[in-house]
Amino acid sequence: MQLPARNTLAVVGAGPIGLEAAAAALDHGLDVHLFEQGEVGSHPLGWGHVRMFTPWRMNLGPHSRTHLEAAGWTAPDLDACPTGAELVGRYLEPLAKLAELKDRIHTHSQVVSIGRHGLLKDDLIGSLERAERPFRLLVRDQGGRENYIHAFAVMDASGVYATPNWAGTGGIPARSEIYLRPQLSYHLDDVLGPRREVYAGHRTMVIGGGPTAATTVAALAKLADEVPGTAVAWVTHTPAASLYAAKDDPLPERRALYEKARGFLAGAHPAVTHVGGAEVEGFEFNSATHRYRVQLAVGDQPRVEEVDLVIVNTGYGADDSLYRELQVHECFATRAPMKLATALLGAAAGDCLTTPVFGADVLANPEPRFYVLGHKSYGRNPDFLLETGYRQVEDVVSLLAKESRARVPA
Ligand SMILES: Cc1cc2nc3c(=O)[nH]c(=O)nc-3n(C[C@H](O)[C@H](O)[C@H](O)COP(=O)(O)OP(=O)(O)OC[C@H]3O[C@@H](n4cnc5c(N)ncnc54)[C@H](O)[C@@H]3O)c2cc1C
Repeated sequence: MQLPARNTLAVVGAGPIGLEAAAAALDHGLDVHLFEQGEVGSHPLGWGHVRMFTPWRMNLGPHSRTHLEAAGWTAPDLDACPTGAELVGRYLEPLAKLAELKDRIHTHSQVVSIGRHGLLKDDLIGSLERAERPFRLLVRDQGGRENYIHAFAVMDASGVYATPNWAGTGGIPARSEIYLRPQLSYHLDDVLGPRREVYAGHRTMVIGGGPTAATTVAALAKLADEVPGTAVAWVTHTPAASLYAAKDDPLPERRALYEKARGFLAGAHPAVTHVGGAEVEGFEFNSATHRYRVQLAVGDQPRVEEVDLVIVNTGYGADDSLYRELQVHECFATRAPMKLATALLGAAAGDCLTTPVFGADVLANPEPRFYVLGHKSYGRNPDFLLETGYRQVEDVVSLLAKESRARVPA
């Protein structure tokens, strides 16, 4: 096999972090190619109707912005908070179309698996000698054709939105959840937009106690104001008193959502019923009535709720199947790369705005020159912010560029 150049970098995922990595890599003289399984910004498009908590000034990557501005792009109002769709339309799509990037971004190219050419997972354990063999990525195109791509460094910025958590107690599937999963929703359905007819006039169970679930409940409550018969059974594992604590939140969008959520939990909306301290035990679907019977345990008491639809918003986690054949040391609690996970647990900041950013040394894996960046690097930890990811990119790309220069003979 003809070896690729030492400065080759493969990036997985055309979200904001993968694209920033591509822009930064060009600036640092790396030969970068990015592989995206869907369209540019597929994940933010999936929650396109949701307004972000953070304003544009926190959402733009410095390298991306410089490239865009050099091509005549003007930044949106930096104090406004974009929706997911605006993030893609105003920023990610123009970025991916730039002359210097467009031929390096390969959409509809799914990375199926990543290994090291000629090395098994348990060869040369923890040795830097592994870096002498290029990574080998199996990439599948839209027509199902598969090819290998080789590179001397890989960044996995494939996000978490495609791998939602289960509804069941202890994080495992509830009874029949696996079987019924294709007909439940695990994402942020646009219940006031294209999915309105599905939810209007029906009783929906929303499971989860984070910002995603609160966003869904708020949208369904608005639908209930407009369409009689629409109702929400909101099920949370945590009791109401410990959810959405009031604090001096500097992000107005988040502050407003949490205020609304506290109102719903306190019974302020007639269409929203809350069941707190509940474990989801199982689902039954009656194909004659098209209704679900959801079995809950509230304390020691069994309880059954009948609903027409179920939305599971219990968060998202990292899919490690891509790099199963690499030497990645994962955290046993969060499934994020171990060093970063330990640093985050140690920081115990409790809020994304105050979580410190950790450098390339903490992002490193036993597998040399392989990095998990962006939302995926946080595993199940929900405190990830784009600002953090952009700083990860800068640190790692500078290090890779320095290492590549050190290896190229003068
Ligand atoms: C509803 C919601 C609101 C959020 N609001 C904010 C906010 O206000 N502020 C903030 O800073 N952060 C926010 N976040 C968190 C975070 O910034 C986003 O999740 C952001 O999209 C993460 O960017 P990313 O580039 O790491 O990954 P993603 O945007 O998730 O992109 C990953 C990409 O990888 C692709 N991909 C996945 N697997 C493969 C594969 N095998 N091969 C090829 N491509 C693949 C996907 O199709 C996707 O395009 C929010 C998250 C959600 C879900």
